[in-house]
Amino acid sequence: MNLHEYQGKSLFAEYNLPVSKGKVIFSAEDAIEACKEIGGKKWVVKAQVHAGGRGKSGGVELIESPQAAYDFALKWLGNRLVTYQTDSKGQIVNSILIEDCTDIAKELYLSAVIDRDSQKIVFIGSSEGGVNIEEVAKNSPEKIIYQGIDLDEQDLNNFAISIGNVLKLNDEQQNQFAPMLDNLVRLFVEKDLSLLEINPLVITQNGDLHCLDAKINIDSNALFRQPELMEMHDESQEDPQEAEAAKHDLSYVSLDGNIGCMVNGAGLAMGTMDTIKFFGGNPANFLDVGGTATQERVAKAFKIILKDPEVKVVLVNIFGGIVRCDLIAEGIVAAIKEVGIKVPVVVRLEGNNAEIGAKILEESDIKVESINDLASAAKKSVELSK
Ligand code: GDP
Ligand code: MG
Repeated sequence: MNLHEYQGKSLFAEYNLPVSKGKVIFSAEDAIEACKEIGGKKWVVKAQVHAGGRGKSGGVELIESPQAAYDFALKWLGNRLVTYQTDSKGQIVNSILIEDCTDIAKELYLSAVIDRDSQKIVFIGSSEGGVNIEEVAKNSPEKIIYQGIDLDEQDLNNFAISIGNVLKLNDEQQNQFAPMLDNLVRLFVEKDLSLLEINPLVITQNGDLHCLDAKINIDSNALFRQPELMEMHDESQEDPQEAEAAKHDLSYVSLDGNIGCMVNGAGLAMGTMDTIKFFGGNPANFLDVGGTATQERVAKAFKIILKDPEVKVVLVNIFGGIVRCDLIAEGIVAAIKEVGIKVPVVVRLEGNNAEIGAKILEESDIKVESINDLASAAKKSVELSK
């Protein structure tokens, strides 16, 4: 689960990490008052969406009057921000973070993720942070370092020194960084994070370390023990079909094509997408209905696939291993009757009771094309999608 920057920064503040004085607003009417409350003469206004890359897309602005904060809020609230990290539809802006503007001397990069191979929290750091970090990673990867942390070690000081050297901190900044790193690790562990990114972590004109951005990702499997974080969930930032699928424990990912895919098993789902691509088509989604595909799950899956207006044909590819194809066929018939599908449906059933399943489809009064081998089924779907 992702957090907004303002939510991440509230956690930063809770863990004594240096953040700017700021206020989040949900209505343009509150912009001028917020600036006055923050004080000062310069502010930064930041559209709150889960995606990054806002700075390069007009979602972050430095301003010098409360009126400009109002104008910015008026422009963005209720509209969608498209960045290089979003799809072409972008993400809705429902809130704006207004902050006291920090004078920057240098922008650094610092993040932490879980590395499954080493089973450690790995810190990633670079002395060249900011909005172009992706270019740094691409063109001079040696400027970005990865270092795993040993949590059993009582004293994180050596680790802090080593990362501090990468960030090219001076002695005074190093003294600020050591407790900061302690707090970051505590935050990461106590709140069950899977990602924590501060880009940029800046050195201010006064020479102090300061967190200017906050990206936090919480391990969804741990949310049951993080009720106060769960409250921060903002469904408006998610793809509506993906959010709906997640509620029903279906693994669904929206894609740009027009062939809806309903498959059981993640590997088979990927193989199905590859086969569609091979024949010149484009999948509209990845969907794994799981090994325990039941009639209800099939019906839910159909509904989710068909919510995507781009879908021109649905390809069902089920391998009956644990699940019986005749039950799936009954599920498909019931689901199609229930949802009233207007696009053609191609079904390929293989494995346990596949023939009985095919017969059920044939004898039903719904219009589906039952094709036994995957290549032909994929080819047919591609034809129908064009
Ligand atoms: P992102 O583009 O979505 O990652 O948004 P950020 O919060 O990282 O902001 C983008 C850029 O805006 C940063 O890299 C900074 O260069 C700039 N920026 C953000 N806050 C401030 C600030 O308080 N003062 C100054 N001078 N620049 C800022
Ligand atoms: Mg950033």
